[in-house]
Amino acid sequence: MNPTALPTTPVRERQGVFMSLEGSALPAARAAELRQQLDEHNRRYYQLDQPTISDYDYDRLYQALVALEAAHPELVTPDSPTLRVGAPPAAAFLPAVHREPLYSLDNAFSREDLAAFDERVRRWLGGKPAVYTLELKFDGLAIALSYGNGLLGRRATRGDGARGEDITANLRTIPTVPLRLHGEAPQWLEARGEVIMPYKSFETLNGERIANGEEPFANPRNAAAGSSRQLDSRITASRDLQIFTYGGNWPGSDRLGTHSAVLAAMREFGLHVHPFHERCETVEAIWALVRHWETARPELPYAIDGLVIKLDSLADQQELGYTAKSPRWAIAYKFPPEQAKTTVTDILIQVGRLGSLTPVAILAPTLLAGSVISRATLHNAAEIARKDVRVGDTVLIQKAGDVIPEVVRVVTEARPDNALPFQYPTACPVCGTEVVREDEAATRCPNPGCPAQVLERLLHFASRGAMDIDALGPAVSHQLIARGLVQSPADLYELTADQVAGLDRMGNKSAENLIQAIQRSKAQPLARLLFALGIRHVGKETADVLAHQFGSLAALTAADEAALTAVPGVGPRISASLTATCRRPDMMEMIDRLTKLGLQVAAEDRGEQPLSGKRFVLTGTLESLSRPEAGRRLEALGATVSGSVSKTTDFVVVGADPGSKLAKAEKLGLTILDENQFRDCLVAHEAVRAGGDHA
Ligand code: NAD
Repeated sequence: MNPTALPTTPVRERQGVFMSLEGSALPAARAAELRQQLDEHNRRYYQLDQPTISDYDYDRLYQALVALEAAHPELVTPDSPTLRVGAPPAAAFLPAVHREPLYSLDNAFSREDLAAFDERVRRWLGGKPAVYTLELKFDGLAIALSYGNGLLGRRATRGDGARGEDITANLRTIPTVPLRLHGEAPQWLEARGEVIMPYKSFETLNGERIANGEEPFANPRNAAAGSSRQLDSRITASRDLQIFTYGGNWPGSDRLGTHSAVLAAMREFGLHVHPFHERCETVEAIWALVRHWETARPELPYAIDGLVIKLDSLADQQELGYTAKSPRWAIAYKFPPEQAKTTVTDILIQVGRLGSLTPVAILAPTLLAGSVISRATLHNAAEIARKDVRVGDTVLIQKAGDVIPEVVRVVTEARPDNALPFQYPTACPVCGTEVVREDEAATRCPNPGCPAQVLERLLHFASRGAMDIDALGPAVSHQLIARGLVQSPADLYELTADQVAGLDRMGNKSAENLIQAIQRSKAQPLARLLFALGIRHVGKETADVLAHQFGSLAALTAADEAALTAVPGVGPRISASLTATCRRPDMMEMIDRLTKLGLQVAAEDRGEQPLSGKRFVLTGTLESLSRPEAGRRLEALGATVSGSVSKTTDFVVVGADPGSKLAKAEKLGLTILDENQFRDCLVAHEAVRAGGDHA
């Protein structure tokens, strides 16, 4: 790693997770500390898809532990993150044992690191010439695809390398995964690849999440991983995912001789292999391609985080073999995060649809990673205070997770004498109402009539994922509110063309078109209307599930918290928000008006779910998933899960130490499923549902 590339400030703190490169002075204590930090970051990254530090910062912590363990080999513990791949599969998924382990890759951060790798390889090969292939390193979720006699079977995550998570039901719908191989297919084939989400789809998805008050994904990698590892496969299917396969083996693949030939054969089989892979014989040639891709990278429509350099000869690969964690015959060159310096010309406070205040730094426009940046988020009051960003400051910015711009730190040496600390407002900058401090980080304008909130709510209502009223943009909405024509979305449906024609730059024809578009939106289905209402924590996916489960706004607003939390994916946070919002007089009045105005307040019948009408009882301890998880998955398939066995029970699922329910089920002659049978049943029905919904 190039030490001059390291920022001088030692720490990054977000959401309470701390990263420090200056820890205990004693090597043993320091190693334990690093291991504990890395374990926590691994859990957040691999299991929750919610990293709290950048990959670059993670890599620095990791390299610190590698260096410490190299200097003090006696400190290496068997469970050290330097010896382990990824993280064990999460209990919510069925485990999938890989035919051959899936490894991680060693990292290189500089030309010197690449030269050291090349030297090691040549030494191990006893001076034989080394020929490499160089490929793009796709930044997504590592997966393994299994084919049997040419037909696609299981799809699994890498997990801890030996065992991954079975996400077959989820990855059914990725168009770049062939369901059947072309040509003469081998008896079995295992391909490795990366599931990615293109930037465009990532931005759309995050836009929707932000508009809805949900936490956006940190980067396309987390969006791809989070989308693939959904418990509800309908959510995965609704997201735009792609795959690039970069390795495979099957009976006879080793006879092809080189990795490049394996890639060519995979392409013949119809697998999606990226067209770029190039053979290189020297570090100079590798470095030239590194430089090329560093510049060309922003033009790609998806994220890459580096390049992978692999020995091309399969016999040489076999000779070199693997360490506990990675192949000795390959290395990943990781790109440094691109950063730029600019000045803060202003700090503005934005007021969101739900009243939250977000400080934004207005920057002197500067080019960073292929786009001109003129704003960067400062997240919240705590973040702005911690970084002490002031108007007039020179700041270092980077794209967080390489996409969303953020201020890394202030270049304090360059601070002008007159730069004053930013005073966080105590009153809403738009309506003047005193703000409420919800916690250390979050502040909110509590006035629902605040013009900024009214405008944001209207824009959300009309947005593409909601009622999709294209012609209702910010300029028109602003005027409608300012002239007192619209206060709530229901007012839109009572507007006349004459009223709209009076707005600035609005002719009669455009006014008619807008009124028609508003009236057409009445036909939008219940799920969209529910999402459009902008209830806190109710995103598009939750709105879909709720519309399906309750069937009408009337039934939903009448539901209590117990009925709401019984819905798969609805926890206490969502149910509390729903009940509080639906009981507010202004919301009740609006729903009433929307009903009278003829909007779709009831769902069309979506037909049967695969397990509709079936009653399940779960007893004993299940090994591969928790009982609540099993219950949620069953309910998502339309089944009812009951706590007691009776003659109306269809299936009793029996884990370890089942107790009296098993005896009762046997006495009643009910169908009893062991854990394996139950898992097969779940996966098969989830596949049917995914097929029914999306095939
Ligand atoms: P890695 O991402 O550095 O490299 C290995 C992976 O690269 C493989 O598993 C494979 O999926 C992928 N890959 C993409 N294109 C490839 C190609 N053409 N050929 C071969 N493989 C290709 O290693 P890792 O073990 O997956 O993860 C470690 C990295 O993840 C860290 O270096 C760090 O950057 C990141 N991480 C970040 C955090 C965090 O909190 N930010 C936590 C854990 C890990």
